[in-house]
Amino acid sequence: MAQQDPIEWALSEALRRAATVTDGTVADYIPELAHTDPELFGIAAVGRRGRRFRAGDAEAQFTIQSISKPFVYAMVLAERGEDHVHDRVGFEPSGEPFNAISLDERGRPANPMINAGAIVTTALVEGAGLDERFERLRGTLSAFAGRPLELDDAVYRSESITGHRNRALASLALAAGVLEGTVEDATELYFRQCALRVTTSDLAAMAATLANGGTNPVTGESVVGELVARNTLSLMASCGMYDHAGEWMYRVGMPAKSGVGGGIVAVRPGQFGVGVFSPRLDRAGNSARGVAALTLLSQTFDLHLLGA
Ligand code: GLN
Repeated sequence: MAQQDPIEWALSEALRRAATVTDGTVADYIPELAHTDPELFGIAAVGRRGRRFRAGDAEAQFTIQSISKPFVYAMVLAERGEDHVHDRVGFEPSGEPFNAISLDERGRPANPMINAGAIVTTALVEGAGLDERFERLRGTLSAFAGRPLELDDAVYRSESITGHRNRALASLALAAGVLEGTVEDATELYFRQCALRVTTSDLAAMAATLANGGTNPVTGESVVGELVARNTLSLMASCGMYDHAGEWMYRVGMPAKSGVGGGIVAVRPGQFGVGVFSPRLDRAGNSARGVAALTLLSQTFDLHLLGA
């Protein structure tokens, strides 16, 4: 029998042990997400030299949802510059749920990792018209992944029909003077970015690109510069897991971002990126088994960034 790669064995072990977690529920506030198979569970990692490791349902497809936020943030930071972006969105963890009504004393959403801040960030993607702007955004996220990502039209339409809270957040940002363009354009573009389909293998490559200073280690393409990659990781470290961000940093100690589709990315800067997927979410809206698997990996391999 062929011997299993030791890293893939460690990933399978993390899945096997985390599968004992049975709490959580699949998101259904976007009606189309309720159709996801709750038992899917996959993980993948990509190293700094582009080696890829997989276990479980690593090639199952799901929508990226909020994991798109750091990558769109990186895109606009590179294109529009820090001052332009941060005049409109803050740097601070909100300690509140992802869909909270969050505006600081200057009228800015607390950070680009929660919905209010992400919608303001997405509004900064340039282009002539919504379709061109989406193609540019899709092109950048595809470069992070190293393959063309496709839109899940059913999930997009489902969120576009029901996403009134996000439209309300965009309206508040417009009233505060921090939203560029219209509420309709910003939210439609945001709903499309959230409905891009990925696998854990894609997430691992996207995370590895941030780990590798903005250059995709599989394709060799420089997607963003080193400083932009570092700035993006900083906000993932402080704000990536919403109202669980503090405990996440304490226990796991890696910059990360979750999405209500059930995915999580985590980054060990300078070394590798990991993507995990399991659709049942805990109360903070993070994949329950995904959190368990990454916690186990961090403990087993001493991945905490602040460890000696
Ligand atoms: N599209 C989702 C929303 O805006 C993304 C939220 C998430 O993944 N946390 O509600």
